[in-house]
Amino acid sequence: MTDFRSVFGAAPDGVWAAPGRVNLIGEHTDYNDGFVLPIALPHTAKATVRRRDDDLLRLYSEQGDGRVTEVGPAGLTPGGVTGWAAYPAAVVWALREAGHPVGGLDVHIDSDVPTGAGLSSSAALECVLAAACDGLYGLGLAPAELALIAQRAENTFVGVPCGVMDQMASLCCAEGGALFLDTRDLTQRQVPLDLAGQGLRLLVVDTRVKHDLGDGAYARLRAGCERAAALLGLPALRDLPLAALDGALARLPAELRPLVRHVVTEDARVEQAVALLDAGDLAGLGPILSAGHASLRDDFGVSCPETDLAVAAAVDAGALGARMTGGGFGGSVVALVAEAGAEQVAKAVGAAFAAAGHAEPGLFTALPSAGARRLA
Ligand code: ADP
Ligand code: MG
Repeated sequence: MTDFRSVFGAAPDGVWAAPGRVNLIGEHTDYNDGFVLPIALPHTAKATVRRRDDDLLRLYSEQGDGRVTEVGPAGLTPGGVTGWAAYPAAVVWALREAGHPVGGLDVHIDSDVPTGAGLSSSAALECVLAAACDGLYGLGLAPAELALIAQRAENTFVGVPCGVMDQMASLCCAEGGALFLDTRDLTQRQVPLDLAGQGLRLLVVDTRVKHDLGDGAYARLRAGCERAAALLGLPALRDLPLAALDGALARLPAELRPLVRHVVTEDARVEQAVALLDAGDLAGLGPILSAGHASLRDDFGVSCPETDLAVAAAVDAGALGARMTGGGFGGSVVALVAEAGAEQVAKAVGAAFAAAGHAEPGLFTALPSAGARRLA
């Protein structure tokens, strides 16, 4: 264990935190201008930070490579920083690119968001840097503006063509609610999610299968969606109404049809979920989660044996519904469970993993938590 002072030999100016997220429904919709419904996790990336009076970045993470990465202004270009330090460096680069006067920083990171688990440790890391820079350099940017900068950082500097959901969730979620976000214009609304009040719980299962979004699969899916929208003469798949889906599918090549079917039905599931939550029917979310998983597994093709097993075991043991969450190819599953049956569901998932010879999954209850904030 290190802290800021032991690494940098001086006192910090402040401490910020930004959370990871669990997306309840709306997967692979955010780069199709569609809808999403994430909650922020209690797990956060913390950044302890000091302003420097030069342009140098010095970056250290408790979960990093055990050394301080130094980046001068000349090295701060896409491709110029590799490894974990690319994420925080990217944010400083994107802020400067957008004309914001951000100088040098010493940064100590400590995060309890599991990495590569589909819970968005990368956005937590980016967003805590964005919030810290905003605070330390008095930029006065709105959370949504910081989210767009963090997304640009990940897209252009790190090289992951992600949508804007993770960054918006990390910066804009509020405690006790889910963030209903229209990713086209960033219109957002907090939807109350009083799970405990209805005797419910969200159980997260980290399958321990590390996804790697850098392997090109994500980019291929995104390109497929964009090609389908272009063939249909639409700005984005979000513009295809559910009622027009069947007619549109008939006009597309066979390999694009399942992608389009997933995105269009998934947008509809987000709207259904929000209507149920607004009506106070939290249990009604269960079947929507399960339908979303079937769509990701059968149409979008981003599930894997471990996420399928976790979903099946949870539902068999009494969960109201369950789905993989995050980009896929591993990562985590979120299950809606009755509080009284939560223990049983957790045990059943663990037993199913043991029986299949998989590593022991990580299990925790996700409480809808606050977005990025200053701690000290
Ligand atoms: P996810 O966002 O689902 O956790 P990603 O592949 O998008 O998965 O991001 C994981 C990467 O983010 C890690 O491989 C690492 O480079 C970086 N990262 C996240 N949190 C930390 C941390 N606390 N310290 C160092 N690197 C981190
Ligand atoms: Mg990520």
